[in-house]
Amino acid sequence: MAVDYHLEGQVAVITGSTSGIGQALATALAEQGVNVVLNGFGDPAKIEADRMAIQKKTNAAVRYHGADMTKPKEIADLIGYAVKEFGRLDILVNNAGIQHVEAVETYPEEKWDALLAVILSSTFHATKAAIPIMKGQGRGRIVNIASAHGLVASAFKAPYVAAKFGVVGFTKACAVELARTGITVNCICPGYVKTPLIEAQVVDQAKTRGIPEDRVIEDVILAAQPNKTFVQYGHLAGQLLYLVSDVGASATGGSFVIDGGWTAQ
Ligand code: NAD
Repeated sequence: MAVDYHLEGQVAVITGSTSGIGQALATALAEQGVNVVLNGFGDPAKIEADRMAIQKKTNAAVRYHGADMTKPKEIADLIGYAVKEFGRLDILVNNAGIQHVEAVETYPEEKWDALLAVILSSTFHATKAAIPIMKGQGRGRIVNIASAHGLVASAFKAPYVAAKFGVVGFTKACAVELARTGITVNCICPGYVKTPLIEAQVVDQAKTRGIPEDRVIEDVILAAQPNKTFVQYGHLAGQLLYLVSDVGASATGGSFVIDGGWTAQ
């Protein structure tokens, strides 16, 4: 039996929700009757088809805004659009992210700038725009999709790790600052999730290393994850729904690890 989190009629913005984790979380919110604004890049026809499919499947109102999350003005427009369309904003999920894996000594400056902008600065800009609206409503939920890499490091991912540690720190500071406002601010820190991005890596690595895909998954991709099992979208959705519902009211400033034991080591 599906759990009712009593979220019907609320309004959410989920950044980077045209793919992977963001799209799964947007769908999970819509399934609870939350009206959602999708955001992200991609083929316009596919974005529109996905938007319609979520709306049809859930009966929630689903909109799309194409803000580039590296552009502060467009981020403010995204938050303003949600309020214009639905008259309120209850939930902000800062999820947009990119990755580039390379040694620090050769890491291109423009890739550093891009990672920091999409992952860390966009979280600041969207949060800044959402706070006055949520304060006016006396309640709000901000959930930042950080990573196990917001708590521990891996080689060749320094900018990503720096940005995600930044997201965890920003989350804590906002939680303390907003603790008396009815707004909670938390992070979810996933281990590896089998998004299209990771699936492509499995196929590539199997070819490059000449080993079967299941060995790539266990020995290469999930080397740091003790349960050797990908995190599923539903595991993240369950955490998100808890945090945004009324029973999550006392959870603020937290980094909720959903990582198969990775950061316990
Ligand atoms: P994904 O590539 O499937 O999705 C990323 C989304 O961000 C897409 O919708 C993309 O269009 C959007 N995006 C990228 N740049 C943007 C920009 N400038 N403006 C607007 N949208 C932009 O990736 P994913 O694996 O679903 O990752 C989602 C989040 O989860 C990221 O923050 C990622 O760091 C984090 N995460 C992923 C994993 C994993 O194993 N997949 C693990 C831990 C954390």
